[in-house]
Amino acid sequence: MNYELVIGLETHVELNTQSKIFCSCGGHSSPKEANDCVCPACSGMPGMLPVMNKRVVELAVTAGLMLNCEISRYTTFDKKNYYYPDLPCAYQITQLNHPICTNGLVSVGKRDIRIKQIHMEEDAGKLVHEGKFSFVDFNRTSVPLIEIVTQPDFRSAEEVVAYLTKLKSMFRSGGISECEEGAMRCDINISVRPEGSEEYGVRTKIKNMSSLEAIERAIRYEAQRHIDALEFETEELVQETRRFDDVSGKTFAMRNKETEADYRYFPDANLMPIIIDDEWLEQIKSAKPVAIDEKADAYREAGISEKEIEMLIGNFKISKLLDDVISLGCNAKDSAAWILTDCAGILRKDGLLLSDLDITPEALSLVIKQVAEGKINRAAGKKVLIAVIEDKVDPMEFIKKNSLDAKVDEGAITAVIAKVIEANPTAVADYKGGKEKALQAIFGACMRELKGAGDPATLKSLLEKKLKD
Ligand code: ADP
Ligand code: MG
Ligand code: ZN
Repeated sequence: MNYELVIGLETHVELNTQSKIFCSCGGHSSPKEANDCVCPACSGMPGMLPVMNKRVVELAVTAGLMLNCEISRYTTFDKKNYYYPDLPCAYQITQLNHPICTNGLVSVGKRDIRIKQIHMEEDAGKLVHEGKFSFVDFNRTSVPLIEIVTQPDFRSAEEVVAYLTKLKSMFRSGGISECEEGAMRCDINISVRPEGSEEYGVRTKIKNMSSLEAIERAIRYEAQRHIDALEFETEELVQETRRFDDVSGKTFAMRNKETEADYRYFPDANLMPIIIDDEWLEQIKSAKPVAIDEKADAYREAGISEKEIEMLIGNFKISKLLDDVISLGCNAKDSAAWILTDCAGILRKDGLLLSDLDITPEALSLVIKQVAEGKINRAAGKKVLIAVIEDKVDPMEFIKKNSLDAKVDEGAITAVIAKVIEANPTAVADYKGGKEKALQAIFGACMRELKGAGDPATLKSLLEKKLKD
């Protein structure tokens, strides 16, 4: 029998805030040493009260807007009770009854994934095990998280990976989270069912997965385990929580699934309900970066390649630079190539990444335009770009000082063409015999002879004319 895979995800993302969710300790990127960022509130001292971080609400709403969710105007917190050494209050503050966002939708390739809800909550701390001792590090307790819960709409591991990759790009470009290793963690709910069946099978949950590669392996293993259980009755499937062991590539049962009642959820009376009024919502909306799909579509329409779009969408700073350069009148496709190929290449030579690029949109647009308008040729443009990036020179001054805009007149170009044609009889004969490619070789020889000066477009048209004679 053929089986269909059914997957739903619960994804935790650490938010990019200056401080924790309910106290003024530094956020997730602050700590250097264990227990550097801890105060009486986030270490659960008696009598301490939580104070809501406004920025968390704004980032959660921004995430909801990007995932096409309904934004709740009234949202509350609940206590989820369980004991764990890195959870000093013995409860976690989370949202059960009135989550901040509901009913979203995100497309992953051809599939639409429904978002059930997004809620805000605090992270737990970390246990560090050394020999027979265990240490607790509270730096991470109360770091703000959003949890994005999907409906069981995924049908393959590839879709899961594509969704997570998309979330990462979105959250980076929206300033919601850097999503670095460990800052985005998933619980993967998996079941299988006979193809064509409308009913869901028994599901298991693989907890706390972070690397995309491990996620793919875990899904494949777990799906096969379910299929074997149904097909060959190797074991009875029960709803439970499992962990994936990276070394063996297998999943192991951790505990039977708790039910909601086990957590004795109740409203957190220490936190007032949060009301999001029209004015605040508008403010958040206007600060929201253009939705990622709209932006990708606009780039696509401008003729930018899929590979380039992927690089742009994943890098807010760079896509903003491109947008700025375009708004200064440069061609989109051309500018994308200047940024993603030329600038990236210059930085790579110094061991730097595109995100290290330091150039103003004005300077970059000048270089691009000088070339586009034929005032200097592309090779000269590249020289200017290097000087602008590496030595922070003014592009126009640099062009003047190095006479890069010196006009090579048509007479000089014609003379070079004659010389090159004379020296390359075989290539000329090839071209005249129908080998289009031979033109490139002749053109290259002319450019070398001109030492990069002269307008390539003029050279090309003069050359073609000459060869037709
Ligand atoms: P809980 O958090 O108590 O495990 P939820 O109702 O919050 O239960 O669902 C958790 C996740 O499990 C959701 O992402 C949902 O899409 C997914 N899920 C529910 N049923 C199935 C199923 N039969 N197969 C795969 N995933 C499922
Ligand atoms: Mg849940
Ligand atoms: Zn604190």
